[in-house]
Amino acid sequence: MSGSLPVTIEDIETAAHRISGRVLTTPLVPSASLGKLCGVTVGLKLEHHQTTGSFKLRGATNAVLSLPADERARGVVAASTGNHGRALAHAAKAEGSVATICMSRLVPENKVSEIRRLGADVRIVGKSQDEAQEEVERLVADKGLVMVPPFDHPAVVAGQGTLGLEIVEQMPDVAIVLVPVSGGGLAAGVAAAIKARKPATRVIGLTMERGAAMKASVDAGKPVLVEEYPSLADSLGGGIGLDNHVTFRMCRELIDDIVLLTEAEIAAGMRHAYAEEREVVEGAGAVGIAALIAGKIKNIDGPIAVILSGRNVDMGLHLRVMNGETDPFREETA
Ligand SMILES: *Cc1c(COP(=O)(O)O)cnc(C)c1O
Repeated sequence: MSGSLPVTIEDIETAAHRISGRVLTTPLVPSASLGKLCGVTVGLKLEHHQTTGSFKLRGATNAVLSLPADERARGVVAASTGNHGRALAHAAKAEGSVATICMSRLVPENKVSEIRRLGADVRIVGKSQDEAQEEVERLVADKGLVMVPPFDHPAVVAGQGTLGLEIVEQMPDVAIVLVPVSGGGLAAGVAAAIKARKPATRVIGLTMERGAAMKASVDAGKPVLVEEYPSLADSLGGGIGLDNHVTFRMCRELIDDIVLLTEAEIAAGMRHAYAEEREVVEGAGAVGIAALIAGKIKNIDGPIAVILSGRNVDMGLHLRVMNGETDPFREETA
């Protein structure tokens, strides 16, 4: 538990300069209803309003801009069907590069066309995410494309950390920061920024009960595999990688706690976002609100910043949740 961490506050400050003007500085707005519920100021960091609908644009933009010109010209590649794929497609195009996004044949057509619309070269290969990842490795080896992973990469983590710098500027007296956790790129970056600027501020990670890979890994003291289940918080699915180099160490050292949420609690968070705040938020983006409503954040001793991390939810699913469904994936899991 010692030695310098892979991403420092200086890396995050450099990233902030680099991506300035290329990503939005998103607002942090007070929530009257959550403030009343918690008895302290609660600020919602509206990062779901970020270009491409999630914070992932910060890390992807920093990663693309960190590449030497010849590598940027060859292009970048990833195997993400979700918010990282969207972000990388947009970031590459904006910087005069091109992103190749590899996906399996099982990915629904609407996701494929969305990423294509953002300027990516989409490659459909095989029947699983693993086969898509093999294609990524082939393109790296044969064509010299540069892989930009969704979380376990110093430039990606530094980019996500810029969100933490903004929170401290927008809410200088913040006592608790609530951050969604999957692979831990967001949490690692945000925690590195917050702890450097305000060491006493607590950073609490949030994720779904089903398949909480970072929580299981922190508990085990090393990266472990967990079984994956469908969840309302689909952007929080997936493992952290058994050969994790960056985010595991950072999360273990910097995050104060990881709180787990049920599907019903996540659904309640999404409903609150829409009904009380008039915000459409995907399940992964609603876990902070969900934890406050569920009373799972203890020892509240000052202002709270809640990161709403994304808004890319299927509209049919959103409607079902708004209409009161609490666990749309239950049958698939049973
Ligand atoms: C990727 C993502 C997360 C989790 O980020 P990690 O860096 O993988 O922990 C949370 N919310 C949304 C909307 C995301 O797209």
